[in-house]
Amino acid sequence: MRGKAKECPLCGRESLLHKSGEYLIRHPKTNTIVARVPDLEWEECLKCGEHFLDDKAISKVEEEKYRSRGLLLPRELKTIRESFGLTQLQMAKALDVGEKTYCRWENGLSMQTKALDRLVRLIAQNPKGLLKNKESEREQAGKIKSVKEYLEKIKWLSGSKFALASYGRSAIGDADKEMITKALRRKKEESGVKNNGREHR
Ligand SMILES: [Zn+2]
Repeated sequence: MRGKAKECPLCGRESLLHKSGEYLIRHPKTNTIVARVPDLEWEECLKCGEHFLDDKAISKVEEEKYRSRGLLLPRELKTIRESFGLTQLQMAKALDVGEKTYCRWENGLSMQTKALDRLVRLIAQNPKGLLKNKESEREQAGKIKSVKEYLEKIKWLSGSKFALASYGRSAIGDADKEMITKALRRKKEESGVKNNGREHR
């Protein structure tokens, strides 16, 4: 059927054929078959071997790449996240990955690992247990860290009540409270020597 061949956009030869049926996804390096997509239509060049797929065919192939690995599709990740009313940043924190990394998964720019895919499924099954604990634990760690950073930055404070009230006592452990109180007392004593109670920055 030479007459039916079209010009290949890549090599320019009249050897582009329309194909339909099962499409084999091959590993780019080893050339072994990694997945099969049923009922696909595409064009293939007999000379240079290039395949040309339209957008619909590409998304079917992409979907099969996830399915064959047993992974959630990007849109499924999004649906799960949105069902909890979480932002991408909150979801990334719950999974302990970077926000950019998580966004790439949802946009289909990179694939999540099998282990993290499993974690998303576990969260989907038990959101209360996993999300809340993880969040409060991280929030608490974040608060303690910011209190410590805050104390390092300040040069003078009027009193310990101010610092503790700003961050909430519940977020701070006894050891931290003691550390903060001591640090405040020390700062106050130091600043008392240097100025007469006026803040300087
Ligand atoms: Zn070609």
